[in-house]
Amino acid sequence: MPFSKLGLSDPLLRAIAEAGYSTPSPIQLQAIPAVLKGHDLLAAAQTGTGKTAGFALPILHRLSLKAYGNHRPIRVLILTPTRELAAQVGESVSKYGAHLHPRLKTEVVFGGVKINPQMMRLRGGVDVLVATPGRLLDLVNQNAVKLDKVETLVLDEADRMLDMGFIRDIRKLIALLPKKRQNLLFSATFSEDIRKLTTGLLVNPVKIEVAARNTAAEMVEQIAFLCNKANKTELLCHLIKTNNWQQVLVFTSTKHGANRLTEKLNKFDIKAAAIHGNKSQGARTGALAGFKAGEIRVLVATDVAARGIDIALLPHVVNFELPRSPADYVHRIGRTGRAGEAGQAVSLVSHDEYSALRLIEKLIGAAIKREQIAGFEASEVAPPAPPEAPRAQRPGSNAKRSPKPSGNQTTIKHRPGRAV
Ligand code: AMP
Repeated sequence: MPFSKLGLSDPLLRAIAEAGYSTPSPIQLQAIPAVLKGHDLLAAAQTGTGKTAGFALPILHRLSLKAYGNHRPIRVLILTPTRELAAQVGESVSKYGAHLHPRLKTEVVFGGVKINPQMMRLRGGVDVLVATPGRLLDLVNQNAVKLDKVETLVLDEADRMLDMGFIRDIRKLIALLPKKRQNLLFSATFSEDIRKLTTGLLVNPVKIEVAARNTAAEMVEQIAFLCNKANKTELLCHLIKTNNWQQVLVFTSTKHGANRLTEKLNKFDIKAAAIHGNKSQGARTGALAGFKAGEIRVLVATDVAARGIDIALLPHVVNFELPRSPADYVHRIGRTGRAGEAGQAVSLVSHDEYSALRLIEKLIGAAIKREQIAGFEASEVAPPAPPEAPRAQRPGSNAKRSPKPSGNQTTIKHRPGRAV
């Protein structure tokens, strides 16, 4: 079905065409009509599925039906876990609303930057506010925003907001909203906490679950390079240089690790920058822009900082360390292989991470291909056989040998189990 059949106004269809979207993604097909009708929404969807347009387009349509004068109240509140996601959602909303008349005003507020300029920007009246919960609460406490006219609330990446400890802030903010309103909740995973939150929040929600992310992930080739911990940096340089990777997103588990790796890559003449919570907003935005523009070859990020980053068609994602939570692995590899393009997700796995590797394979319901690179073989402990291998090697049974990748390893395409 084309976008034109979904009931969106012409100015929105024009913006969609300019964005280069020809057909709605599965989540858009389901979400747009439901949101247009004013329903609440419970959507299991991750970044990369087109969820932002899925909620932003119908919201803008509804907003533009009733125009306000100069002193317009905030009618749509979009809460996101991170500054980066807030900025991206704000950009998308502005882009999709570019041809609406009268123009709707969108503002973005988040922590880590001065609050005063944000207060000034809010003074002129805003239709759509995109915010991280903590900063918004600060603004409320300073009487810089009023939320008593909000018609639609969007909780984007709700699971991550809870992971980041925002539940209290969210509840405080919800208490300030009018009782009668539309609520849209997007989450990649559905823990008990999310269920608790949705119970009190959503009224007869339309439930949407999309596998679109999965079709993207099916295109992702996943490889685990078994190696020694001490050799990871050299192995990464080797992979980047020999394969001539030009745009690589590398995940580390700590901010400190991200900094250290970035310094080393730069020493090896591979232009790299780090983004994580300790960096100033300016540094993060600059690094991301440089990466998107191709000036920075490697972006080193922690999970939190990378969450929600939208970089179209990222060819390579590297797990310098496997994430502690298998669900984060699914989030990470979802950064590649977007929009039908093949991508590659590479993990550098040292022996202390073998159990984490198995947990990931359990979650995704598939084995990840193991490989070793000559000169960087895992010599510490025998590497783990994939789950399908008929005879698993016992760890430590040949600790001194450098095991070769065994011939019976199967590459199974990612059959993403829902991380739910
Ligand atoms: P999101 O899941 O909202 O982060 O969107 C992921 C990416 O898909 C963004 O780069 C969007 O610009 C893009 N996108 C959204 N909807 C469509 C569509 N219908 N066709 C092609 N690309 C889209």
